Amino acid sequence: MANEDECLFCSLIACSKSGKTEFLYKDRFVAAFRDINPKAPHHILIVPLKHISTVNDITDEDALLVGSMVNAARKVAVGLNLKSYRLVLNCGADAGQAVFHIHLHLLGGRSFGWPPG
Ligand code: 5GP
Ligand code: ZN
Repeated sequence: MANEDECLFCSLIACSKSGKTEFLYKDRFVAAFRDINPKAPHHILIVPLKHISTVNDITDEDALLVGSMVNAARKVAVGLNLKSYRLVLNCGADAGQAVFHIHLHLLGGRSFGWPPG
C-alpha cells in the first residue's frame, strides 16, 4: 500500500498547484482529472485530496469526503452532458485496484455490460 510520500495521486494533486494536471473539477475535498488510459470516451477519476489507501481505510470522519466524491462525479457528468454513466470504486488488488489512493472512476460515452469482468 502506498503511503502519502510515495503516492502517485498525491503527487498529481501536488503537481496541479503548478498547473501540470488539468482538473475538470476541484473543491475542498476532491479533485477530478482524466484517466491516462481511458476505458471509455469519457473516463474521469474523482480523487480525494486526503490520502486514503483503500475503501477499507475510510473512517466515520471521512463520510463527508466520501459523499463529496459521488457528488463531484455528478457535477462532472453534468458538465460533460452525460445522462448515463458508470461509477466504479475498486477496493484491493483482486478487485482491480492498482493505485492505492482511493478514486472513483466515472465512465461514460458508451454503453456498458453487466456484470463487470
Ligand atoms: P484502479 O485500477 O486503481 O481502480 O485505477 C487506477 C487508474 O489510474 C487506472 O485507470 C489508470 O489508467 C489510472 N492512472 C494510472 N496512472 C495514472 C497517471 O499518471 N495519470 C492519470 N491521469 N491516470 C493514471
Ligand atoms: Zn495519495
